[in-house]
Amino acid sequence: MSFRPTQPIPLPAWLKNVLYLMATSLESPLYRVNATQDIVPMAETRHTFCRICEASCSLVASVEDGVVAELRPNQDHIGTQGFACIKGLNQHKLYDSPDRLRHPLKRAGSDWHAISWTQALKEIGEKVRELRGEEPDSLAMYVGTAAGFSTLHPIFAQGFMQGIGTKNLFSSASQDCAHRFAMASEMYGFPLTQPFPDLANTECLIVVGTNPVVSKWTFLQVANPVKRLKGIQRRGGKIFFVDPRRTESAKTAGEHVFIRPNTDVFFFLSFLHELFAINGVDADHVAKHMAGFEKLDDMVAPWPPERTEEVTRIPARVLREMVGTYAAANGAALMSGTGIGMGTHGTLAVWLQEVINAVSGNLDHKGGTLVGRGIFDFAAFGVKHGLLVGKTRSRIGDFQAVNDCFPGAILADEILTFGQKQIKGLFVTGGNPLLTMANGQRLHDALSELELLVVTDIYLNETASLAHYVLPATSPLQRPDLPFIFPLFLGMQSIPYLAATKSVVPPEDGQRDEATIYADLARASGVNLFDSKVAQWIVNGLQKLNALLRPRKGALVPQELILSLLLRITGNGSFKQLLAYPNGKDHAGAKPEDFLSTRVFTEDGRVQLAPEKFICAVEKLENDFVREQATGGDQFRLITKRSHKSNNSWTQNAVELTGGIDGGSNHLYIHPEDAARVGLAEGDLADVTSEVSTVRIAVRYLSDLMRGTVAMPHGWGHQGATGLSVASKLGGVNVNLLAGDGPDRVEELSGMAHLTGILVDVAPAAGPLDEESWSGITPRSAHG
Ligand code: SF4
Repeated sequence: MSFRPTQPIPLPAWLKNVLYLMATSLESPLYRVNATQDIVPMAETRHTFCRICEASCSLVASVEDGVVAELRPNQDHIGTQGFACIKGLNQHKLYDSPDRLRHPLKRAGSDWHAISWTQALKEIGEKVRELRGEEPDSLAMYVGTAAGFSTLHPIFAQGFMQGIGTKNLFSSASQDCAHRFAMASEMYGFPLTQPFPDLANTECLIVVGTNPVVSKWTFLQVANPVKRLKGIQRRGGKIFFVDPRRTESAKTAGEHVFIRPNTDVFFFLSFLHELFAINGVDADHVAKHMAGFEKLDDMVAPWPPERTEEVTRIPARVLREMVGTYAAANGAALMSGTGIGMGTHGTLAVWLQEVINAVSGNLDHKGGTLVGRGIFDFAAFGVKHGLLVGKTRSRIGDFQAVNDCFPGAILADEILTFGQKQIKGLFVTGGNPLLTMANGQRLHDALSELELLVVTDIYLNETASLAHYVLPATSPLQRPDLPFIFPLFLGMQSIPYLAATKSVVPPEDGQRDEATIYADLARASGVNLFDSKVAQWIVNGLQKLNALLRPRKGALVPQELILSLLLRITGNGSFKQLLAYPNGKDHAGAKPEDFLSTRVFTEDGRVQLAPEKFICAVEKLENDFVREQATGGDQFRLITKRSHKSNNSWTQNAVELTGGIDGGSNHLYIHPEDAARVGLAEGDLADVTSEVSTVRIAVRYLSDLMRGTVAMPHGWGHQGATGLSVASKLGGVNVNLLAGDGPDRVEELSGMAHLTGILVDVAPAAGPLDEESWSGITPRSAHG
């Protein structure tokens, strides 16, 4: 039996001595007793892993009295090898905040009332029944990035929506990666088939529009990007970073090439043009595995490097040098990130990137790009069961779903546009769309119109502040889990391994895991999870069993048991067996020549090099090129810029992860010569104006920027959050107020919002900064 005091216990000296002897002779890990102090709980050590970004760094937690006292990098882990960043090592301070939600909340006007789970579920369930009775599609869900870092959260959330029978799912993917899913659906037959660079063997890596040193890798688990980049260079490999800013990554290794924001598609067209010109095609590879090659030559003919140089500003000579190095390497990879995806042609750009890797013979080739294997063949499973490959279309804009989700940038229109299937009820889970989506002001107005807004989160954030009900979720450290879905299901790992974690600390008061929340909501709403009576019956039974065996914990979904079942049925042992490997368990990694012959799920089993809709879209690029030629002059291109201290919108409620506004990152970054040109100096206030809005923000010089480019970080502007006591006082403006939303402003091939490369005017501020407003300006664009 363990005895775990929560406070030091005053004891007589003789008893302390006796207990000291007992404790030391038993080598109890739980208590420290000495002659001068009372009994205090000793730290327990627990292994876990970070669930903030794809790197999934292994961590060692010291837990004292049920609270995480410290997180350290796990030096012995086979995959992450002692790496962890400031965010991961300080995340417990976010989760231990007094701002954490501990009970369901109900809003009455601007007042919040703690209510019981019974009341919350009953009232939400009744409203869902009413709305669903009118029209199932009147209910929708927005799934944020944080949901993806839990195995069961997205599964149960989607299961609830399937039970309701709505097609209206939205996700944060249409802010950062839907272009990749749209490309992969067409080329490889499954959206999550995403080839990644073979970092251990590549001789040439060309990185476009991503900054792994700060953002970590994208669609690949790489724990220590600096080490990996230097490793390539040490082996004699060549690295190029193509970016409008000389990034931290470009300063780490390789060469940097400036590119004008939002012109990537022309860079890739010329790259392919030049590859053809130097006979850099692996004809056998193409003939054996690919279809549509014959359409590519004509497609790129109008785009020689000398022509595109005018808009990309990459000299033809430099582009030729890159192509020559790429073609000469025995194993080369082109890769990209959000810098291209958030532009206006992200899908075409990433498709051309993949075409180049494919026709040059680098796809499925050592040192080129590989396709991993997770704990099972997820692509085969998805295709067979129709998972993530649905072809439903949106009411507004007639967009085809990508990864079963519609564009987030049409959500406001779906709510505000009267008619059948108008969205009237919304569940938001693991995200804060008000801050992270385009045109937050319009979304704010739309969310305020809903008949039902339910937010599941750990905080009363900006979106939650508008909700009718807020449900308190567990933090990542309060739930058992398997690693992030990409390495788990898809094997996107540079060093392959499997891992599992128990919850490090228990939930407090009324906090519940999302699997339980959505199972309970399904029951309260009179629907079955996954629209399956059997599934709901099994989950009901498991919850009842849990309540019987562990009455104090109540009827929770037994997460470890379900994770164990997932491992068992995929032939990967059990959850308990994986826990026996705190430093990771070896797992088969991605191998060359393991993809093309067996795992391409297009109709003919070949990589589709020239999907009709992509070819048609390239034919329409002429107009965009002419427009690009015409733009410039006094206008700037606005790009985003990340700080290693914060992650999107959700890590700024701990002092350690903000640095405060002055020491933080929320500035308008501008080249000093550009600043002088528009009459600004370091520290001045600037007004930044797009076609949608104006924000007011302090200027900071950054000579790493390409001339004509300005940068602002995203995820700021928390002034409207009722329950973020640290973040709401930081000030800062929300860059996405400058981005447009609505069907006309969405990239039509993938539904991606246009969040980078936005044309803006920059001028000295017309007034003072309003620190209470998320736009920096009073009263326009300010919100509650
Ligand atoms: S790099 Fe990512 S996974 Fe690793 S500690 Fe930092 S936030 Fe966590």
